[in-house]
Amino acid sequence: MTFKDLELSEELLRALTERDYKQPTPIQKQAIPYVLMNRDLLGCAQTGTGKTASFVLPMLDILEQGRARMRMPRSLILEPTRELAAQVAENFDLYGKYHNLTKALLIGGVTFNEQDKLLDRGVDVLIATPGRLMDHFERGNVLLNDVKILVIDEADRMLDMGFIPDVDKIVSKIPPMRQTLMFSATMPKEIKKLADRFLSNPKEVTVSPPSATADTVTQQFVKLSTRQKRSALRRILGDDSVRNALIFCNRKRDVSEVLQTLERHGFQAGSLHGDMDQFSRTATLEKFKKDEIKYLVCSDVAARGLDIEAMSHVINFDVPTHAEDYVHRIGRTGRAGRQGHAITFVTSEERKYLDAVQDLAKGSISEIKLDTIQRKEIESKEEKSHQAHRRGHVRSKPEAGETRSEKTNLPPAEAKLIQSNQGAIKKSEQKMSHQQSHEEVVGFGDDIPAFLIPAKKV
Ligand code: AMP
Repeated sequence: MTFKDLELSEELLRALTERDYKQPTPIQKQAIPYVLMNRDLLGCAQTGTGKTASFVLPMLDILEQGRARMRMPRSLILEPTRELAAQVAENFDLYGKYHNLTKALLIGGVTFNEQDKLLDRGVDVLIATPGRLMDHFERGNVLLNDVKILVIDEADRMLDMGFIPDVDKIVSKIPPMRQTLMFSATMPKEIKKLADRFLSNPKEVTVSPPSATADTVTQQFVKLSTRQKRSALRRILGDDSVRNALIFCNRKRDVSEVLQTLERHGFQAGSLHGDMDQFSRTATLEKFKKDEIKYLVCSDVAARGLDIEAMSHVINFDVPTHAEDYVHRIGRTGRAGRQGHAITFVTSEERKYLDAVQDLAKGSISEIKLDTIQRKEIESKEEKSHQAHRRGHVRSKPEAGETRSEKTNLPPAEAKLIQSNQGAIKKSEQKMSHQQSHEEVVGFGDDIPAFLIPAKKV
C-alpha cells in the first residue's frame, strides 16, 4: 500500500516524497482511512511507529476545507509535555508545507504575548498542553466552540501526570458534534474508561500488542549496588558502540547528580527535567539533536515521546516505578527500524519494579550476569574505593596509556579480564585526561568489567 492508495491530497504526497517516506507505517495504514471518514478513533501504538503522522496527515486534508475565525481554533491537539507538543507542531510544518493552514503552539515556559497574537489572528490547528490551554481559556484568549477535531495524544501519560481533570474541563467546552481521536501507547483499563467518556462509537486500531516493546531493541539488565551505578554508567558510555544515549533517572535530584558526575569525567552531557524553563529545554534538545552533546540525563516527564533519530542506547539508571514507563523509555531507541539497546541498572531494592517490567515486557529483558571473578573484582574495588573515600584519600586517575593491570597490580585472572577490555578503557582514559588529575573516584572507579560493554554482549 502507498500513501496514494490512502487518498491523501497531492500536496501531502509531495511533502511526503520530499521526506522520502516510501510507504505508510502500519498505524498510518489503519488509522488514516478512518480519520478521513470523520470517525472517532482509539489508537494503540507505541511511539516510533509513525503515530503522529497518522493523525496529522488526514487532519491537514480535512482542515484544508474552511477557514479559522479569530480566537476560535478549528482543531485541538492535546499533548502531555511541551516537547511533544513542539514536535507535533514541527510535524504540521513539515507535512503541511503545501497547505495554507495556520497553527499555534500553546505551551508553558514561554510568554503569553506571542501566543495571544496568533490566537487573535485565528488558527486552524491549536497544539497545547492542558495547563497552558486552561490558562488561556481563563483569560478569555481562546474559545473552543468551533473545534471540529480533537486529538488526545499519549492518553496514558496524561493519566499518569494527573492531567485528566484538566482534559475533562477542556473537553466539556468543545461541542459534542466533533471528531475525537485518542492515542495511547498502552491501553490499561483506565484508558478504556476515558475512551468511553470522550469518544463516540470509535474504531479501534492497534499496531502492536498493548505494552509491547519494539523488537529492534535489545533489552538487558544488570544487578548493581547503588554505589556501582555511576561507575557502570561511565563505563558503558565510554564504549565506542554508544553513539548517543538517554539516561533515565527516577528523581530530579539524581538527574542533576548523574549529570555532574558525567561532566566531571569529561562526557559531553546535558539534562532534561520538568523544572527547567522552556528556553533551556529547547536549547538542550537542539544541542542533542545536533550531536553537540551525546548523553542526555533525564526524567520521564521531560523525555516522553522525544523523537531523536538514531538513538543508539537508553540506559535506565533506575528501574521505573511504573512499569509502563519502561515501554516509553526504551521506545526512544530502535526507532524507524534501526537497532537500539536498552540497559537497566537494578539494585536489590528495585527487583520488585523489575519484576513488574518483566511481566509487561513478557520476560524479554535478559540478565547480564556477573561471574564470581567479576563480582569479586567489583566488590574489592568498591570496598577499596569506599575505604579511601572514608579516609579522605583522593585517588589519582590513571595516566593516558597506563593500563589498569599496571596500575592496580591485580591477580592474573582479573588482569586478564581487564586486558580484554583495554580498548574501551583507553577511550575512557582519554576522556578522563581532560579533567583535573586529582579527582576523587567513587564506587569501583572505572574498573568495570567487560560484561557491561553492550556491543560485546548483544
Ligand atoms: P512517531 O511515532 O510519530 O513519533 O514517528 C517516529 C518517526 O518515524 C518520526 O521520525 C517520523 O518522521 C518517522 N516516520 C513517520 N512516518 C513514516 C513513514 N511512513 N516512513 C518513514 N518514516 C516515518
